[in-house]
Amino acid sequence: MRMIYKPQEYRIKDERMKPFIDESEIWEILDKAKATKDNVRKIIQKSLDKNRLSLQETAVLLKTEDPELIEEIKQGARELKEKVYGDRIVIFAPLYIGNKCVNNCTYCGFRASNTKQKRTTLNHDQIKGEVTALEDNGQKRLILVYGEHPLYDADFIADSVRTVYDVKSGNGEIRRVNINAAPLDIEGYKKVKAAGIGTYQIFQETYHREAYAKYHLSGKKKDFNWRLTGLDRAQEALIDDVGIGALFGLYDWKYEVLGLLRHVNHFEACYNVGPHTISFPRIKAASDSNIDPEFEVSDADFIRLVAILRLAVPYTGMILTARESKEIREEVIKLGVSQIDAGTNIQLGGYSEDNAKAQKLEQEQFEIGDPRSLAEVIDELLDKKYLPSFCTACYRKGRTGEHFMEFSVPGFIKRFCTQNAILTLAEYLEDYGSVGMKRKGYELIEEKIGELKDIQKIDDLLIRLEKVKNGERDLYY
Ligand code: SAM
Ligand code: SF4
Repeated sequence: MRMIYKPQEYRIKDERMKPFIDESEIWEILDKAKATKDNVRKIIQKSLDKNRLSLQETAVLLKTEDPELIEEIKQGARELKEKVYGDRIVIFAPLYIGNKCVNNCTYCGFRASNTKQKRTTLNHDQIKGEVTALEDNGQKRLILVYGEHPLYDADFIADSVRTVYDVKSGNGEIRRVNINAAPLDIEGYKKVKAAGIGTYQIFQETYHREAYAKYHLSGKKKDFNWRLTGLDRAQEALIDDVGIGALFGLYDWKYEVLGLLRHVNHFEACYNVGPHTISFPRIKAASDSNIDPEFEVSDADFIRLVAILRLAVPYTGMILTARESKEIREEVIKLGVSQIDAGTNIQLGGYSEDNAKAQKLEQEQFEIGDPRSLAEVIDELLDKKYLPSFCTACYRKGRTGEHFMEFSVPGFIKRFCTQNAILTLAEYLEDYGSVGMKRKGYELIEEKIGELKDIQKIDDLLIRLEKVKNGERDLYY
């Protein structure tokens, strides 16, 4: 069922590398869209029937201002999440490797001109220290984050990925390393791929060239097209697991949603596979930054945009980060988020120092809104009957395009995702859970097994669960 990479079916290479964003086209689609009760409801239903929405249909949802219909859009997103993905939430943590940067993105604490920022690049031993602390906390999936600097070239990134995979502390290990770094050239991506990365993530920040120029004052990142085609070069290097994103607050949020969708369309048209994930960070305060509030996205609009994205691309993973507060995260998770970070500390070297320490903006990229520990987040997810998952099975079994399969292959979630979530949660409970959390966690596991019983034999899962309790690890489907 995986959308296969078939080079012979591609359009010519030059066509794929062409910048595909046309601002006037996006504005025209938005301007022409008209929301009526009838068409909004039809579009929501189309998504609930497991269909992707077009740019025009998404524009109709974006143009909807009637509070009753906005509520129906949110309800549709919640329904889609429940119906299709169930209640699993995949957990990861970011690990900042270095904050040197040659660019000047006006919103970011790491920008070259910010003399208040303390610059640090973790060395081999410091990375090991950080990863040990993360593993001792129960993390299994990381995203490594880098500023853009000649020091952080592809060899450096590949080397840091290998260092992370090599660290084993007790029963802990990192099983999937994703990357958020500057766009590379094709040779660079090949080197990083060889180190065994999961997703390569690049946020376009804004899909509007004029706005882009306003915020990206100097350095390589100034080149809009180099960034826009960054993940096409990744595809050329056979990295087909990529993540896109827009930084909300730089330009009109409705335009950016269509920009993201246009990016998805480009991938589907050129490579037969969409991006693995979409991120939608909102700008947060950063050291010495001063962002024009003209395009600030309110909480209500943020919630709306996540719901619309969910309906527009029902089979793409959606990532919500700790930039947002606990309260917003609770609200937005219900709308179809599939991954969140937890136990997040974005201070360079912050995990092995002191996790509870107050945030220091001069050592961080921006301020985070949810500084809770991993245990606190897991505890709350369990209370709310979400199934926290540390699963990395699809990636390791070569099942890329898993969101698509979750969505379209009958029984996929129950056969793979729920069982793997249960096994990885049990590992977490055994190795890192308090007595109270263990009780709560195993109660939820029992409930989930009860739900699986109607559809399949679960003897094998029960055997594996017993094995986890007896100390075996990394048993996955
Ligand atoms: N330096 C690389 C780059 O710019 O692509 C790697 C990642 S950068 C450290 C990660 C992302 O953080 C950026 O792409 C941007 O969207 C986001 N970011 C930067 N400043 C931010 C801020 N003040 N608030 C929220 N997110 C921010
Ligand atoms: Fe550097 Fe990335 Fe920050 Fe821009 S967003 S200043 S490239 S770290």
